[in-house]
Amino acid sequence: MNTEAKNGKKVRREDCRPKISERRYREACREYEGWCTACGDFTTCEVEPDAVGYRCDCCDENTVMGAEEALLCGEFIFSGMIED
Ligand SMILES: [Zn+2]
Repeated sequence: MNTEAKNGKKVRREDCRPKISERRYREACREYEGWCTACGDFTTCEVEPDAVGYRCDCCDENTVMGAEEALLCGEFIFSGMIED
C-alpha cells in the first residue's frame, strides 16, 4: 500500500493560494490597485505595481503590495480562465 502521498508531504502550496483571473490582474495593474496579503484580495487604490507595505483600506494593516509585486511573491495564482 502506498500512503506516502497522503501524509501531507506532497501537498502543493499553490493550491492554498487565492486564484484570480489574468484579466483581473491586468485591471489591477492598470488601475493601481493594491493586493492585501491579509485580506487575500485587491483592497486598496493608488498602489504602484511594485509597492510593498502599504496600508490596507479594508483591514488597516500594512500588508498591501502592488499587483506586480504580489504576483512575483506568489501571493496569488491565475485561475487560468481569461474572460472578456
Ligand atoms: Zn487587508
